[in-house]
Amino acid sequence: MRNPHAGEPFTSSDDEIAAALLDVSIPTLMLSLVHLTGDPELIRGHLKPAGLFLNEVQGYMTEEDKTEVRALALDRIRAYRDAGCPEPEPISAELLHEMMRWLVVEDVPAEYVPMLMEEMELDGTDARQLPPPADVEAREAFPVVVIGCGQSGLLAGIRLQEAGIPFTIVEKNAGVGGTWWENSYPGARVDVGNHFYCYSFEPSDHWTEFFAQQPELQAYFQGVMEKHRIDQHVRWETEVLGAVWDDATATWSVRTRAADGTEDTLVARAVISAVGQLNRPNTPDIPGQDDFAGPAFHSARWDHDVDLAGKRVAMVGAGASGFQIAPTIAEEVGHLTVFQRTAQWMFPNPNYHETVGPGVRWALRHLPFYGRWYRFLIFWPGCDKGLEAARVDPDYPDQQTAVSEVNELTRQMFTDWITSQVGEDPDLVAKVVPDYPATGKRTLQDNGSWLRTLTRPDVELVRTGIDHIEADAIVTVDGGRHECDVIVYATGFHAAKLLFPMDVTGRDGVDLRTMWGERPAAYLGITVPGFPNLFCMYGPGTNLAHGGSLIFHSECQMRYISQCLEHLIDEGARTLEPLQERYDDWHARSQAEIKTLVWSQPSVKHSFFKNAHGEIHGLSPWRIVDYWAWTKEPDWADFDVR
Ligand code: NAP
Repeated sequence: MRNPHAGEPFTSSDDEIAAALLDVSIPTLMLSLVHLTGDPELIRGHLKPAGLFLNEVQGYMTEEDKTEVRALALDRIRAYRDAGCPEPEPISAELLHEMMRWLVVEDVPAEYVPMLMEEMELDGTDARQLPPPADVEAREAFPVVVIGCGQSGLLAGIRLQEAGIPFTIVEKNAGVGGTWWENSYPGARVDVGNHFYCYSFEPSDHWTEFFAQQPELQAYFQGVMEKHRIDQHVRWETEVLGAVWDDATATWSVRTRAADGTEDTLVARAVISAVGQLNRPNTPDIPGQDDFAGPAFHSARWDHDVDLAGKRVAMVGAGASGFQIAPTIAEEVGHLTVFQRTAQWMFPNPNYHETVGPGVRWALRHLPFYGRWYRFLIFWPGCDKGLEAARVDPDYPDQQTAVSEVNELTRQMFTDWITSQVGEDPDLVAKVVPDYPATGKRTLQDNGSWLRTLTRPDVELVRTGIDHIEADAIVTVDGGRHECDVIVYATGFHAAKLLFPMDVTGRDGVDLRTMWGERPAAYLGITVPGFPNLFCMYGPGTNLAHGGSLIFHSECQMRYISQCLEHLIDEGARTLEPLQERYDDWHARSQAEIKTLVWSQPSVKHSFFKNAHGEIHGLSPWRIVDYWAWTKEPDWADFDVR
């Protein structure tokens, strides 16, 4: 069988190929040519990228060099086509490592190579898939309940199915996608490049934008679900109310409630919580908000029946969601008032709204391993560089606005980006340049649309706190009265309340959220002592603010969980849970580590990363490569297995 990443054979004309080559990432194309010709000398000459920067996919190559590559590529691709597109020969590990270094114009340390090879799947095999089950009967007696059918729950279903383990996914929504089902607000789009933000084993060559919008993301998950026939295992519009562990039978009883109010109990040998961290909308209590006469809704519960045309709209909150909503609705509404408590740092990304041209799509479909190398190209800048840049230098003076020299340089770069757009308006500059260290909150992607929106005459940015709400206005603490017809709360989620509002009761009647209090933790973000056979995906300490992608993290977590389940089944064991001391040690180390990073800075006053005590329990402070290695295979010495 042909390697699925070797590209589909084609008969495109010379002109069609030449047109496609105008569109593609030239350094990525070069590596595809190495596969296609088997000639490594192609990357050993003068044609090479000059540097690497996030989302800069041309490697700063000169126009002359790009033209030269296109000409030689046309020759090679034409010959490949005329030969019937033979499947390329495998390439040696040494040459692949050389190709990695060449593409990103720097060393790729050896410890990263196995992780990257796995992510790229150049040999066409999905290394995160476990071998087919041997003892089918034992698996059939091990039902699993998965809570949630977003990206992680769907992945759990795919892996459980491959393992021959019976499962039911319980999903509160009517469809798949989780975040990408619920957040249908205008302008919702992902801010991790889509050719990486998709399952490693289910790449898509038909993204229409490099950072796709919500409908396309939801459709992607729908397509993957249908392809893997997971839908027949899902109970839609059914909410999990809670789960109770029964030691006598070594089972979880999972209580559910369907849309019509019918309650049911599912009995499972294991439960996988795949509910995410950004799932329950947080609408702040503001005096008088119930008196507001017009429509008011949260960004994750967008009311598409409300026609905003010509209306005076107030948007409370402007983080990642508000930042996308305002530029999208500004044109349509009569007037937009944005209430923002904290200014946001943003990362310049001129390509944020770029569409994927037909040439790139042609290359993804037909050029051997083009999509795989493109995935690597956009993954690599998020492999731990952001973590080192987030590290606080304890000797750096004045930690208020920068935490290290690198952080100060980032601050200057981001500030230049902001001021270059708002020009000479000192009032606006004062409002939009943050007063805390760069990257101290989740940094947003920006192509200029946010600040362009704020400079519109019919848009006002209010940085003064809200005092109360009246029937037709929001009143700020300085007495300012901002009349509005509609209120949008883009105020984020209950991120610190993990697994909220489910009641999860473990051994001896211990309630998980009571036990956690303000400090949720799980060993590797996955397992919790006293809660046997309970596994979290995107659990405590696994959110990412420094790189990678949550899909990558989910794939790491699910491989680990699958192995735990296999172990339970193969050993004929009843329960598996982490040792208390491993859990405590993990949490203590994670806490010590996160305190060395910019997100913990006291000058970052408001951040959904922080709990009421200013501590951070949701985020990962760890290198991507370490988390990958730690979750590759469970260490059974970490567990009590009975
Ligand atoms: P968010 O980033 O937490 O932003 C919430 C906004 O509401 C902030 O401006 C916050 O102000 C404000 N706010 C919250 N409570 C408030 C209160 N009591 N009074 C006044 N203002 C208040 O939430 P989000 O925009 O929904 O995004 C959450 C996360 O979802 C993101 O960090 C990201 O992980 C994900 N997301 C990603 C994308 C994407 O991929 N592009 C898009 C949307 C969301 P402060 O800043 O002062 O707290």
